Amino acid sequence: MRVGVLALQGDFAEHLAMLEKLGAEAVPVRLPEDLEGLDGLILPGGESTTIGQLAERWGLVEPLRAFGSEKAVWGTCAGAILLSRDAGRKQPLLGLMDIRVARNAFGRQVASFEADLAVPDLGETPFRAVFIRAPSIEEVWGQARVLARLPDGRIVAAREGRLLATAFHPELTGDDRFHRYFLEMAAPPDGSKPG
Ligand code: GLN
Repeated sequence: MRVGVLALQGDFAEHLAMLEKLGAEAVPVRLPEDLEGLDGLILPGGESTTIGQLAERWGLVEPLRAFGSEKAVWGTCAGAILLSRDAGRKQPLLGLMDIRVARNAFGRQVASFEADLAVPDLGETPFRAVFIRAPSIEEVWGQARVLARLPDGRIVAAREGRLLATAFHPELTGDDRFHRYFLEMAAPPDGSKPG
């Protein structure tokens, strides 16, 4: 498996390390040609406006859209904002996923927090999720479906085919289940998985 991580800004290094730990070939993506031959791509957390503007500057927006219309893409936090169709304000988005997000949805006082999430797709053990100035997913439509909610009902993870959005940061925990889940999503359909 060859999986890229968009490496313009944000915590891409933690994703690269997690992918390598799981035995995938992890590739930092900075230019359109870096997308060649990848099975999937992660859009990391960081600052979604900055990442979007850098992607525009480096001619990455259309190549990323084309990649995401065929291959697996996972956005964490700022990356989930980039994947969305609507972030409630004007900023560069890939607009690939039928979700609407609200940026910084948890306000200043709880800018960062952790929560145990029930994620049925990952099994019975709750997932300890780290939220940092996180968005919430306000609406999910079309083929997109909810993967996890906070106890108050707010949606914090969703999937649409090969697209995955999490409002939190699985790369900052020791729990690699979301990364494994994404590698399964990204595996080529012929089942030719390495090792
Ligand atoms: N608040 C950031 C944004 O709106 C996202 C924060 C993060 O990725 N941890 O882009």
